[in-house]
Amino acid sequence: MSKEPIRSIKGTQDILPDQSSRWQTLESTIRNTMHTYDYFEIRTPAFENTSLFLHSVGEESDIVSKEMYTWIDQGGENLTLKPELTAPVTRAFIQNNLGGLNPINKLYYIDSLFRRERPQKGRYRQFHQFGVEVFGSEFPEIDVEVISLAMSIFNTLELEGLTLELNSIGSEDCRNNFRTAIKEYLKPNFDKLSETSQKRFKRNPLRILDTKSLEEKTLLKDGPQISDYWTSDDKDHFNEVCELLDKINIKFELSPNLVRGLDYYTRTTFEVTSNLLGAQNAICGGGRYDGLVEQLGGKPTPGIGFAAGMERLLLVNQKSDETIKSQIYVIGLGDSARSLIINIALELRQNNIRTSFDLLRRSIKSQMRDANKLGAKYVIIIGEEELAKNIATIKNLSNSDQEQIPLDSILSHIKSLPLK
Ligand code: ATP
Ligand code: MG
Repeated sequence: MSKEPIRSIKGTQDILPDQSSRWQTLESTIRNTMHTYDYFEIRTPAFENTSLFLHSVGEESDIVSKEMYTWIDQGGENLTLKPELTAPVTRAFIQNNLGGLNPINKLYYIDSLFRRERPQKGRYRQFHQFGVEVFGSEFPEIDVEVISLAMSIFNTLELEGLTLELNSIGSEDCRNNFRTAIKEYLKPNFDKLSETSQKRFKRNPLRILDTKSLEEKTLLKDGPQISDYWTSDDKDHFNEVCELLDKINIKFELSPNLVRGLDYYTRTTFEVTSNLLGAQNAICGGGRYDGLVEQLGGKPTPGIGFAAGMERLLLVNQKSDETIKSQIYVIGLGDSARSLIINIALELRQNNIRTSFDLLRRSIKSQMRDANKLGAKYVIIIGEEELAKNIATIKNLSNSDQEQIPLDSILSHIKSLPLK
């Protein structure tokens, strides 16, 4: 009786060996750039107390209201798989007193996240983000550094068709005044609003600006604008961000209705979209969250960060990856050659030379085929004749040149060859 094999969870993906090298290239590009900007990696647990997300992301957000994987564990604790990283990193920043150790903390992460959304292209239930969180500076130069860091990674990846959209949602006062104004303006039209916007009207009116409906967009155009509610400090801050971006030649578009879905954002808000993606066109979102550390029980500390979706980056990244090839394949037959082959492979590997040998006890001909398939540059052959004479035959697979050398000089000989 054949059993039905167990399958993976909907919205999760296996990253198989033919794809993992693209992930590795992406990850090393991210790490290299982070290090040139002097950002340091932070790793946080896969799950947290549910209350962390309730108190930061906010109960009205899509994430908290419908996307979290939450459960009560055997000890009765209410836990959640992390759906985003800003809250966990901020929790760790406070708990470990990073702010007391350093006035500025520039942190980055590469991590897996979990959201119970409807799976589709570019939208999964377990996905990956890289991002940064910087704590300690309220000044525009850090806004610009964070944006330029994100753009620099996208440039290194040679992504095309990207747009950087920029806005400021002002300080808390500005947001509060704007919230009152937009509610007043929309009130007479409440019945015409979509169901989503009606819900947002009550709970999180700022997010109505996020609407996809053309009718609502037109309505909003004639209504109050956030920029009318900026304080003069908000205005100066945003102008300086824009000027500095101009000075370092980073192109952006002003997007007056760009608000982030999460409750803790203040002032600078930005998003990077790609015209190569369909509906899920956002690859990166970020902004300032000057009130978050205090909200989570820390000392008032300004903060700014972004998060970029790595699956979407790979969808946009057209550049094909060079497959990594083997360098050496050791070939031989029979019991007497076996331990010798294992020893040769061990010595080469200890010297950082990529080496394979046959693990299926196949014929010499099949081993040669395997070496070609792996793309090996050279094969080392230990046949009967070689065993008898204590030598090895080294064959260059690209031009079939071969030569014989003493067994004890294999390593030095291989090292003298062009292996790339
Ligand atoms: P969206 O509007 O696409 O739902 P979001 O506002 O929920 O995005 P953020 O929480 O800002 O997204 O996350 C930052 C980035 O993470 C997004 O720009 C996107 O690239 C990626 N992302 C978000 N949700 C998913 C998901 N379910 N699957 C894959 N990538 C995602
Ligand atoms: Mg979302």
